[in-house]
Amino acid sequence: MRGTHPRAGRPTAHMARCVAAVLITTSAWSQESTAERPPNVIVIFMDDLAYADIGPLGAQGYATPNLDRMAAEGMLFTDFVVSAAVCSASRAALLTGCYHRRVGISGALGPNAEIGIHPDETTLAEVCRARGYATACFGKWHLGHHPKFLPLQHGFDEYFGLPYSNDMWPQHPEFVNLPAAADGSRPGFPPLPLIEGNAVINPNVTSVEQCQLTTWYTERAVDFIARHAAQSFFLYVPHAMVHVPLHVSEKFRGRSTRGLFGDVMMEVDWSVGQILEAVERQGLDEHTLVIFTSDNGPWLSYGDHAGSAGPLREGKGTEFEGGVRVPALMRWPGQIPAGHVCRELATTTDILPTVAALIGAPLPPRAIDGHDIRALLFAQPGALSPHPVHYCYGPGDELQAVRDRKWKLHLPHRYRTLAGRPGGTGGVPVAYSTATIGLELFDLEHDPGETTNVADRFPEEVARLQALAEQARHDLGDTLTNRTGAGVRPAGRLALDDPRLVW
Ligand code: MG
Repeated sequence: MRGTHPRAGRPTAHMARCVAAVLITTSAWSQESTAERPPNVIVIFMDDLAYADIGPLGAQGYATPNLDRMAAEGMLFTDFVVSAAVCSASRAALLTGCYHRRVGISGALGPNAEIGIHPDETTLAEVCRARGYATACFGKWHLGHHPKFLPLQHGFDEYFGLPYSNDMWPQHPEFVNLPAAADGSRPGFPPLPLIEGNAVINPNVTSVEQCQLTTWYTERAVDFIARHAAQSFFLYVPHAMVHVPLHVSEKFRGRSTRGLFGDVMMEVDWSVGQILEAVERQGLDEHTLVIFTSDNGPWLSYGDHAGSAGPLREGKGTEFEGGVRVPALMRWPGQIPAGHVCRELATTTDILPTVAALIGAPLPPRAIDGHDIRALLFAQPGALSPHPVHYCYGPGDELQAVRDRKWKLHLPHRYRTLAGRPGGTGGVPVAYSTATIGLELFDLEHDPGETTNVADRFPEEVARLQALAEQARHDLGDTLTNRTGAGVRPAGRLALDDPRLVW
């Protein structure tokens, strides 16, 4: 299985074409002044960072001055949701502007996965590249690790990072203490590779190296901003943190009063500050939209190594608000009003169509689910969420809830929970138990914690949302009712003769 890994730095024909394209577009854009160019876009995408993990939403035990600054100088969204409360599916939605169900990517892809984003889908990077943008991804990709699925094949000029989650390695806490087999092989995950471009540059990331990931991604981001100051750019920074196993550099070890999780959050905040400073240093402050958000809520079974959803119910892996509602900050001085709070429903799928509208790029040829939220972003008076309905697909592609503005109807389903028990300590999780919820209606405006079922009081809302659920089943399917969905498109699949990533 372990082949000789390709060496970094060997230019491929594809890379050469990319470099040539970048040089040409840089030359074209550099003839325009900054004000004439379409704005830069930076998306900082956290992993498992929960609703109440940032200062503006109640973080405790550590300070997040740079995230506080983003809120003070930009917009805080209090009702921003993801398509799925799990890593790969959530990223598929962010980058395609579609429900993850629509593009055929569910759950979290592991080292055995043989799927990724279909080549006919259009990613946010490709939308930006169509307008001549320089593009880069520094961080966790998690949308297929074989070469045909890696970022360079989906609109990014540069890539550096982990192909999937940082716990998919031999030290995973559920496997690390199991005995080796007779042939010496160990159960669990293979060594964790670090990739640059399309090549593995480190076949076996160590714990010492995991401590540097946030720093490395930040340094790459700052360097990219400096190199492309004279050209419009899209920079995507999907951090490995604050997904377990938590790792922090010496710069922040022991700095918080919230243990390792707080230290990691302080380093994340530092990273945001470095990126904001880099933008400012290049004179691009008023020409750059910076978005900070997360892929899903807290992994509660990890206890003190997990974040906090604050008042929201449950966490990652569930369709309760604690799983799907994430913090979101958007800053663009001079365009987004400072210190504004948006309480309207918006989603990660809105980022692609909103950016397309902002930079004057065409929308993808295939149908998408996100909406242009510029009216919310610019705080136009009376602006409302453009979402008539939002569907919540849970584990196993079950349609588990339907949201229409303040109303959220849970459809009968099983979900994982700690049922009030404490989570684990020191990076070792406790086991979840399983609970069941029936047909229950919640008024999220008055009850964001989904504590009080009001289905009996509002039967007409229940019936209306059930009819919407039926529309979703027709379009996007539902394994709970054995529906496939007429609007579901296939993921990209690895063919027998496709090159595989070996390391
Ligand atoms: Mg995640």
